[in-house]
Amino acid sequence: MKIANLNSRAVLLVEGDGGATAVDIATASGGRFGPEPRKVFEQWTEFSAWVTDAELTGGDRFDPAELEAPVPDPRQVFAIGLNYRDHAKEAKLDAPEHLVVFTKFASSLAGPNVTVELPSDSVDYETELVVVIGREVHQADLDTAQAAIAGYAVGQDYSERAVQLRGPAPQFSLGKSYRNFAPFGPAVTTADEVSDPGSLRITATLERPREEGSETIPLQDGTTADLIFPVAQIIADLSQVVTLHPGDLIFTGTPAGVGAPRGLFLRPGDALTSTIEGVGSITNRFVGR
Ligand code: ZN
Repeated sequence: MKIANLNSRAVLLVEGDGGATAVDIATASGGRFGPEPRKVFEQWTEFSAWVTDAELTGGDRFDPAELEAPVPDPRQVFAIGLNYRDHAKEAKLDAPEHLVVFTKFASSLAGPNVTVELPSDSVDYETELVVVIGREVHQADLDTAQAAIAGYAVGQDYSERAVQLRGPAPQFSLGKSYRNFAPFGPAVTTADEVSDPGSLRITATLERPREEGSETIPLQDGTTADLIFPVAQIIADLSQVVTLHPGDLIFTGTPAGVGAPRGLFLRPGDALTSTIEGVGSITNRFVGR
C-alpha cells in the first residue's frame, strides 16, 4: 500500500491499467481517517485494519509533479550521519560506535519532485531510506522498534557542505535545512510491502546538461545491507533517549558516492533521480539563486 499527499490531503495510490490513481482517504473512509496526512499515521492501527478490508474504487488520475511531502508536519525529524560502512570509508572516518544524530528542520521538508534553489556551489546530495513512524515508542527493544514502523520513502538529505562543516562546532542541522533540502516520497510504502528493509538497492543518477544534450552520471549505487545501524536498531537506540511519535521521520543515512570526496557539487540545470528498490523514485531539478 502506498500513502501519498495530494493537495494537502492523504490519498492511497492504487495501481490500475492506465497507471496509478489516487483515492482520497477521508472521502473513502467517510471522514474516519485524514484528510490531513499526519492524522493517518496517528491512527495507524485503526487505519491499517480499515484499509485491509476497504473496497477502494473511483480513484482520480493525478500529476506526479503535484505530490507533496507524505508527512508535511512531523513532530520530529531525525537524521543519521555516517551510517553506511562504504560512506564512512570514503569520508575517511571510522565506523561510529554510537548513532550520529542531527535534524533537518521541518521547514526543509518538501514534496518528492520539487525544484531546489542552490544557495551556493557547494551543495551535495545524500540518497536515503526514510522511515515513517506509526506508533509511539519509548525505550523500545528491537521487536517493538520494528513494529513501530509504518512505512518507508525515498529521501534526499541535501547538504550545503560549507555551512555544515564550519566551526567552532559543525552545523549539520543548519547546513542541511535550506528550503527544499529534505524532499521525500513519492509515497509512504507500508512496511508490510517491504519484506527486508535490510537488503534494498539504493541509487542516485545525475542528468547534467552539456553544450549538446546532456550527460548521465551515475552517483550512488549501494545497498541497505551496508547500514551500520539497521532501521530497527536506529529506532531502539533513539528511543532510549527520546519518545518517537506517529508521523515522525528518520533519514537513515547515505551510502558511498556523495559528491564532496570527488569534488562534484550540484549545479543549476542538473536533475537528480534517487531510487530505492521497492520503495520508489524521486527527481529534483536545480536552479541558481
Ligand atoms: Zn545524510
